[in-house]
Formats: sequence, structure tokens, C-alpha cells
Amino acid sequence: MGGVMGPPGSDGRFGGFGGTFVPESLVPACHELDEAFRAAWADGGFRSELSQILAEFGGRPTPVTECRRLSERLGVRLLLKREDLAHTGSHKINNVVGQTLLAARMGKRRLVAETGAGQHGVASATAAALFGLECVVYMGAVDVERQELNVFRMELLGAEVRPVRSGSRTLKDAVNEALRDWVASVGTTHYCLGSVMGPHPYPWMVREMQRVVGDEARLQCRQLLAGADPDWVVACVGGGSNAAGTFAGFADTPARLVGVEAAGGAAITRGVPGVLHGMKSYLLQDEVGQILEAHSVSAGLDYPGVGPEHAHLATSGRARYETAADAEVLDAFRLLSQTEGIIPALESAHALAWVVRQAGHDIPRGDTVLVTLSGRGDKDVAQVRDLWR
Ligand SMILES: *Cc1c(COP(=O)(O)O)cnc(C)c1O
Repeated sequence: MGGVMGPPGSDGRFGGFGGTFVPESLVPACHELDEAFRAAWADGGFRSELSQILAEFGGRPTPVTECRRLSERLGVRLLLKREDLAHTGSHKINNVVGQTLLAARMGKRRLVAETGAGQHGVASATAAALFGLECVVYMGAVDVERQELNVFRMELLGAEVRPVRSGSRTLKDAVNEALRDWVASVGTTHYCLGSVMGPHPYPWMVREMQRVVGDEARLQCRQLLAGADPDWVVACVGGGSNAAGTFAGFADTPARLVGVEAAGGAAITRGVPGVLHGMKSYLLQDEVGQILEAHSVSAGLDYPGVGPEHAHLATSGRARYETAADAEVLDAFRLLSQTEGIIPALESAHALAWVVRQAGHDIPRGDTVLVTLSGRGDKDVAQVRDLWR
């Protein structure tokens, strides 16, 4: 394996985690994707085309914002990497544009994607529309009902949403269904997976497609901090893609890296090693190995597993993982709105909640803290209003 956050080992492992735990029928597809990604990522033409699309369509680079009022209140210097300002309102656009460009290069005409709350489905449908590809999004039947507006968004963008009625009828089952579709249609179809999870090469490929967040932020911080790096780099962790992309930019600096999970979906903090969706990682499981449902106020963090590289970063000690509970997340959601004029996604508010709790405690007064604001909170305001009523 390369240095900290280099490429995985030849077996697709980050330390003892990751790998390619798929049925035999999917092994050639994973292999083909691995080779295609390696070639594309080494090709300057592909990389510059991707950068250009992310600039003119995706709104990159996103700024780093100095939070003056909230910093004064917390006694630490707080900077936000503003993925909420990217097209479609979160970091997800970086990954889907990258994978869709790769799919087109591989001659694939069709995308399949899984979605839980709908954010990755909407982003995939967006990228498919941009490239003129057919797009099918698998979504648990329970989520289809809970997220009608996102279902309509995907359909508006030209995608077909297929409700999944197996298992718990949520995200975990949607991933299984998308994998099944991919096995059956691999000649024409690319599976656009939404986070740093699944079988190799996905955890590595998605992290590389999200590292633009960390690479930009590192340069922007150095400009703001007279050449220095932040003392702390903090991001929320669902599957772990915004955190992995952010951490990749700072892995070789002295910055302390902190991933914040939802207390009700804390695969690293409360999970055990196991195999799910083609990877070995930490999972929420009961004593007999049944996968448990994750529960959080933020649907985007409701995944019972976590990307394998995070399992490795936790085990090796390069990053630490903490949790935030719903109540403090809602407080942070309001606090950022009222002190900085930025309504954060509930997912991102987990990272903020940990900083609010630890400022002046684990985080010494005067330290500089970069938080990745993974998305904007417009999608969450109706839910929060109903909770506070
Ligand atoms: C999907 C999503 C997340 C969680 O996904 P990661 O892969 O952990 O980044 C976090 N924040 C926002 C705004 C999201 O849409």
C-alpha cells in the first residue's frame, strides 16, 4: 500500500479492510472498472476534462469561508469548506460527474445508482442528463414514500426511479438491487455508487473523485493561514466520501483528522468488522450477524456500514471518529444559521456539533478548525420545522 491515503493494496485492501467480496459473476465487472479507472486517472486529458466540467457546470472551486461570529463565540478559528455551494447543493456532484465521464469513456450508455434519502439519486440523474445517458435509480420503497420530492426531481431530470420492496426496503436493499442490475447488464451499464464503499475499486475511486475537496481546501487554507495548515480537519461520515476526500488533502500534514458519525449510525464507533455490499468494514450488526438499521435525524447518515478506508484510518490511528446526537445536531443547525447566515445540511451539522461541543475542551482555544460543510440545508428545513413545532 502507498503512504497514508495512497492507493489500496493490489487486492483492493486498506490494511485489513476493503477487498472485493462479490459473486463470481461480478468479478470481471469490478476488474474492468478498476482498469478503466486507473487508465483514466493517469490520463491528463481525462483529468482536465473532468476539472473543466466541475468548474463550468459544478461550480468549483467552492470557497473556504472564515466564520467570524461563530469563531468568536467558540474561541477557536472556524473555517468552512463550502460544498453546499456546489451544483445540486453538496459534494456528491464531484463523484457523479467523475463516474459518468468514466462511464462514457468506457462506452456505457446506461447508469444505475442506489439512493437512500435521494441526494445521490438526484446527483446521478443530473450527471446522466448532462451526458445524455439513460439512468435508473434504485430506492427503497420506504424511502420513496418519505422522499417524494426527490423522486419527482429525479423523474424531472429524466431518470427512472425503481422502488425496492425487499428486506427493510431502505438504502441497504437499494444497493443490493443496483448490484443485481449491474451483474445482469454490465455490457451496457455502469453502476454509479454513491460513497467510498462497496467492492474495490469503488472506495478508492470515489475517494479520488472527492479529493478535489481536500486539495482545494488545503491550498485555500494555506492562503488564509500564511502558509500553515489547520490544526483540525473535521467532516461528517455516512459512507464517508466527503470525509475521505477532505482527509486526502491533509493526510500528509500535521492536521488532526476527525470523522463525525451520527450517534444512531455509528458503524466505526459502535460497529464490528463484517462483510456487506462487497467490502469488509465496520458494520452495525447484532450478535448473529444480522445487519441493523441505522437511525438518525439526517437520512444521509443512515447507512449501517462505513467505507473500508475509514475503518483502516481508525485502526491505524491517523484519523479519529466521534459521534454527534440528534439534539446537539439540531442546535448546531440553528447556531450556524443564526451566527453565519448559512443553513447547513443536517449531515454537515454533525461535524459542527462535535466542534461546538469540543471547542475549549479537546480542541484548545485559539486552534484553527476546518470543517467540511458537505451540503446545504434547504432539503432539511421542512423536517426541522416539524420537529420543532
Ligand atoms: C450524502 C451526504 C452525506 C453522507 O455521505 P458521505 O459519503 O459520508 O459524504 C453527507 N452530507 C451530505 C450533504 C450528503 O448529501
